[in-house]
Formats: sequence, structure tokens, C-alpha cells
Amino acid sequence: MDVLIISAVAGYIIYRIGREVMGSFRHPEDEELQDYWNNITKTEDPTAYRQISEHLASCESCRDRLDELRKRPGGPGAHGPMISRRY
Ligand SMILES: [Zn+2]
Repeated sequence: MDVLIISAVAGYIIYRIGREVMGSFRHPEDEELQDYWNNITKTEDPTAYRQISEHLASCESCRDRLDELRKRPGGPGAHGPMISRRY
């Protein structure tokens, strides 16, 4: 029984550390967010695309930055009205 509890706790800790590592993926640069939004990252670097997706899911400040980038004149979306229909 004790062994079960210990392995459950250990598994939980490993799970939490894994989440921390993914969550602490550095904040993407503005350019990276633009490429991400324009689906450039998705085709050129699927791993980075997934990491940015996961980062955005856990990082409110980067979601806000992405919103700002999309509103910026000449930014993502300005020349690609189709992209905004993703919503
Ligand atoms: Zn962030």
C-alpha cells in the first residue's frame, strides 16, 4: 500500500515538473507570435508551433500580446482578412 502511495506521489510530482517545464517555455518574441499567427511556424517548425500553442494556453500575457499584434496596423491579419475568420 505504501509503495502505491509513494509511486502515485512520485508520478504526480513528475507530472507537475513536466507541466512546469512546458509552461516555462520562454515567452515567444513578437516576430514568433506573428509567424505563429500567420501559420508560418506551423509549416516550418511544427514543434515550435506546438510549444507556442501550449505556452499561449498557459500564459495570459502572451495571449494579450498576440491580441495587440493582431490589432497593430500592418500586423498579422491586416493583409490577410481570411485569417481573422478563424473565430
Ligand atoms: Zn508568455
